Amino acid sequence: MQKLYMINHKLNKDDKMITYYGYTDGSGEYYVVIDSDKCTGCEKCVKQCPKTALQMEMTFIDLEDKPLAVVKKEYCNKIKYICTECKPEKNPPLCVLSCPTKAIKYVSTPIEMKS
Ligand code: SF4
Ligand code: SF4
Repeated sequence: MQKLYMINHKLNKDDKMITYYGYTDGSGEYYVVIDSDKCTGCEKCVKQCPKTALQMEMTFIDLEDKPLAVVKKEYCNKIKYICTECKPEKNPPLCVLSCPTKAIKYVSTPIEMKS
């Protein structure tokens, strides 16, 4: 089933928020994943994204406001198109490579791997 716009919030084992921005299409499921616990707000991913799809956003988490990397709202329903050039064939996307704390990942689950 084609689904061009998905944002899922999940909690990891330590109850920290993980946000999945993604889509599905005929070839599988794809997500940019940001771990709020690991994000230090350094902005490196924001500066490296060739499509300017990311921004920092003050987010209330762990009882305080913290700057977190997020996918811009206006880009959330366009991930399929804007992140396509980065879809990893050999190397991870620049946002992933730039993150010093491994807070951002690109998850790619082709259909054949799901069955
Ligand atoms: S996958 Fe590419 S276009 Fe998408 S957020 Fe990361 S660097 Fe930007
Ligand atoms: S590079 Fe990593 S730690 Fe820095 S703002 Fe982006 S996700 Fe957060």
